[in-house]
Amino acid sequence: MEMKPTHIDYGALEAARFGISRSPKWPHVEKAHRRLQPNCVACIPGTNTQAGLQVHHIFPFHYCIALGRPDLELDQRNLITLCQDEPGKPGQDHHLLICHLDDFQSSNLLVVTDAQQTFYGLPADQIRQNAIWLQEEASRLKPLDQMTQEDKDNFINQMNTRFPKL
Ligand SMILES: [Zn+2]
Repeated sequence: MEMKPTHIDYGALEAARFGISRSPKWPHVEKAHRRLQPNCVACIPGTNTQAGLQVHHIFPFHYCIALGRPDLELDQRNLITLCQDEPGKPGQDHHLLICHLDDFQSSNLLVVTDAQQTFYGLPADQIRQNAIWLQEEASRLKPLDQMTQEDKDNFINQMNTRFPKL
């Protein structure tokens, strides 16, 4: 696999493909989340202490905006912190591997269970060989423009069931 630069905001790039950009309130909400959840949820505390960190949307924000729940971009319930390799800040790439199943154009809606249980404490090389991960990677969320109406209805249903409107 090619090495990707990691200082790029991949979430914003993917959203931009659909003409959607982050709310001006996002930096404030992201900062608040870093205070609430300052470490990678998938890393054993005290390990990977050099790692860069990403605040990730469980339901990706551009899907939320496109599919009727723009409030979830700024809702703490929809956020989770995972480590990401950055220059000089090695981690286990849990953001790329667990949140996005190795493709920033896709996302993993099982990220919470996967980070807290299924892949908890596993280094990147073990995740890449894990049978459950390989299976999930093959059935990951489609990019917005490849979803059928049924895919969208399923997504909307999951989003509203998990995070009812406040
Ligand atoms: Zn981690």
